[in-house]
Parts: sequence; C-alpha cells; structure tokens
Amino acid sequence: MDFGLTNRVALVAAASKGIGFAAARELAREGARVFLCSRDEERAREAARRIAEETGTECVGMRADVTDDADARAFAELARERAGRVDILVTNAGGPPSATFESADLEMYRRAFELNALSAIRLAQLVVPAMREARWGRVVNVTSISVKQPIEGLLLSNTVRAGLTGWAKTLSAEVAADNVTVNNVAPGYTLTERQDELAAARAGTSGKSKEELIGMWAAQVPMRRLASAEEIAAAIVFLASERASYITGVTLQVDGGWVRGLF
Ligand code: NAD
Repeated sequence: MDFGLTNRVALVAAASKGIGFAAARELAREGARVFLCSRDEERAREAARRIAEETGTECVGMRADVTDDADARAFAELARERAGRVDILVTNAGGPPSATFESADLEMYRRAFELNALSAIRLAQLVVPAMREARWGRVVNVTSISVKQPIEGLLLSNTVRAGLTGWAKTLSAEVAADNVTVNNVAPGYTLTERQDELAAARAGTSGKSKEELIGMWAAQVPMRRLASAEEIAAAIVFLASERASYITGVTLQVDGGWVRGLF
C-alpha cells in the first residue's frame, strides 16, 4: 500500500526514544520529512541523525519541552522555516506518574493536564489553522488504552487522557470539512525503555525480577506479549497517511486485545 507520505512534513513531539521515536522513524521510512523534539538537545539531535542516516530522508531534531509555550512555538517554527508547512502533527509526551485518589493532590492533576492534554492542544493550535487553509492535515495524538479501560493506579492518566479524547473528538468535527483529520492511537503495554525501567524499579520493591514483572503484564494480554514501539508506530503512520482520509475522530487501540470492551 502506498501511504502517500512522500515529502509530507511531519512534526513529531517527544521523540528521542520510545513510541515517539518509532513514529518519527516509520514516517521517515515512508518518505516524510520529519521534525522531532525532546527535552534534551543532544538526544533529540542524535535521534534525528539516526533516522536521517537510516532512511536517507530529512530529519531534524531540536530541544523543546512540549509543556512550554515558547518551546512549542519554536518547534513548530523550525518546521515552517525549513519546510514551509506542517502536514502531520503527532502529539506525544512522557506519561504522568502513578497515583490514586488518596495520593494525588491538585497540583499533580494540574501537571498531568499540562503534560498530557495541554501539550497536544498547544501544538494543535500552532499548526491546525494552516492545515485547514491548505485543506490537508493529520493530527494523531498518542494517548493510552486507559481511555477505553481505566488502569488501576494510573488515576492521572485515566483522567487527563479521557479529557484529551473529548477534545480531539470535538476538534475532529470542527475541522473535518477542511480535510484535516484528528485521531488518537492508544497504546497498550509497550516495551519501550520507560516500561523496561519501570519494571526494573518495581522489581526492587516487589521481590520479583524485572522479567517476571514483564511476564505478568504480558499475561494480561490475549496475545501474551507486550507491543513493540514499531507496532504502535505503524498505526500512527496509517492514521497520518493519505489512505486514512475518511477516518476521523477515532481512537485506535493497539493493545494485543487487552481492552475487553466492544468499543
Ligand atoms: P518514553 O519515556 O520511552 O519516551 C518519552 C519521550 O518523550 C522521550 O523522548 C522523552 O524525552 C520525551 N518527553 C517526555 N516529556 C517531554 C516533554 N515535556 N517535552 C518534550 N519531550 C518530552 O515513553 P513511551 O513509552 O514511548 O510513551 C510515550 C507516551 O505513550 C507516554 O505518554 C506514555 O504514558 C504513553 N503510553 C505508553 C505505554 C507503554 O506501555 N509504553 C502505554 C500506554 C501509553
């Protein structure tokens, strides 16, 4: 299938590693010109260099914290200066900390909203108006399966990502007639460095080995394994592609069957 992504300009947030990096690389493999960011200049540049070297396409990395207005503006500006436009926006950030109703104070909710909702809204505000004028655009938000089935102990993610999903659905209807689609990819358990580190950290306190913990997560999944970042990225690329032209306002879960609900 030709995804029609050659020379499309993609802005991929929070992409020095993990799902963001995989999304940037897959988009580049499909011929898109990719601009990525992370909070660390060196890591962002190194990620971009690896992608450019491997794919032979333009890939540029810069330091930008997606929770910062000026950083986000500079990030969008970089793509506009170098490529003249942004066709595809992939929103992403690190996840919020684990929390329960008892452990979460209001400041933690504020920070989570900033990290996993406003970060996406802010970038969309910067690029969607021009997408509408150009009458072509794709916004893909990386969320979580917690929007389909809340995850115990992840109160902040469960709360904030549901809010972002409501925003994305509303935006999708507002911009659909201009040929701009807005969708979400909801990863299930994905073996990124973050999950690996999380397992290593929990191993210290739980009396289980890292491998046992990863095995326990995998046991909850009908496929009996975790996703790779590339498997999540494949869904992002599809929703960003020309081929997904009549799909908007959806959340595509990529979870090996973990969510047990019908929708
Ligand atoms: P990761 O920690 O491996 O990668 C996160 C990336 O985001 C890194 O490049 C980091 O530098 C960057 N980043 C973090 N905060 C940033 C900020 N404020 N500004 C700019 N860059 C920032 O994480 P991941 O596993 O790839 O997860 C990506 C997203 O998907 C997270 O929101 C996570 O909660 C969500 N998610 C992950 C899983 C999973 O199992 N890995 C499952 C569901 C949802």
